[in-house]
Amino acid sequence: AREWHLLTRPVGWPKPEDFALVETDVRAPAEGQVLVRNKYLSVDPYMRGRMSAAKSYAAPYELGKAMQGGAVGEVVASNADGITPGDHVLHFFGWREYAVMDAKNAVKVDPDAAPLSAYLGVLGMTGLTAYAGLLRTASFKEGDSVFVSGAAGAVGSQVGQIAKLKGASRVIGSAGSDEKVKLLVEEYGFDAAFNYKTAPANEQLRAAAPDGIDVYFDNVGGDHLEAAIGRLNRDGRIAVCGMISVYNNTEPAPGPRNLARLIQTRGRIEGFLVGDHYDLQPRFVEEVGPWVRSGELKYRETVVEGIENNLEAFLGVLRGDNTGKMIVKL
Ligand code: NDP
Repeated sequence: AREWHLLTRPVGWPKPEDFALVETDVRAPAEGQVLVRNKYLSVDPYMRGRMSAAKSYAAPYELGKAMQGGAVGEVVASNADGITPGDHVLHFFGWREYAVMDAKNAVKVDPDAAPLSAYLGVLGMTGLTAYAGLLRTASFKEGDSVFVSGAAGAVGSQVGQIAKLKGASRVIGSAGSDEKVKLLVEEYGFDAAFNYKTAPANEQLRAAAPDGIDVYFDNVGGDHLEAAIGRLNRDGRIAVCGMISVYNNTEPAPGPRNLARLIQTRGRIEGFLVGDHYDLQPRFVEEVGPWVRSGELKYRETVVEGIENNLEAFLGVLRGDNTGKMIVKL
């Protein structure tokens, strides 16, 4: 079976030479363990952080060892109570075809309740990120005007739609292509959207939000964050989810130059990590699950096939090749 190893820590944009697809033996599960054949692998922006040695919220990937990430697979052998071959499980041993793990690290999922890949995206980690960040960190309330960057991505597309479904007065999104912008307005029901590559974000946000914004959900950082601070209304809230525009920087990016606006607006800016908000998971599934099933909340996935394309799929997320959740199908 094959698995991806990190060989050297990337500087700037990761290069194929920093990684290797390695052949390994599949071992039988020990007492209390299961063997899983992975079917869907997640590739996510935070993985860039784990490729660096710097201390962060997730431990750095170890050089010369299999990388990790969210995955859903089928149990093919079990030496553990309560899990039998044929069961499907969500776990954290992605970037590989087969994984042996302690049963306590595998969460059973129901392939009849939702497509298996949904447990990595719309009903999984990225979905909960959108839900928790918008409702808890940004304290979203009905009538708020919301701006979200990375709006055609996994988290962003769900932030905008949840805001809309929960009574936002206006939802504005930014994304990196005209096609994505069209999707936001025509399919996802955003009130306005812009392509940040065609003109400065602050100019386009000003035009899209003439009455300002109450909430900014930041996936991007940089010029987007500054633009949002510039449009923030009184008592506005900024939830810092991610700053993908800086992940490959080799020098620290300049900070927003207009932070003083937080004084006059009594604005609040707060970072959050989805891992701290799993207490919301049941409420999230209860509320968002029916919207997904009814089609009121729409989602896309960009599916790349084959373990050999796992790395390219990851690089594609950083480049913006994806619309919605990027998934690797094995
Ligand atoms: P997405 O599906 O949104 O994919 C990433 C997107 O980022 C790309 O599709 C691309 O779209 C956009 N992008 C890439 N580079 C830039 C840039 N320089 N400027 C603006 N946009 C850029 O990924 P996720 O939904 O998984 O993650 C979205 C954000 O949320 C990330 O910042 C991630 O790190 C963060 N995150 C944070 C979590 C937390 O717990 N705090 C949990 C999960 C995710 P485009 O074509 O529009 O450029």
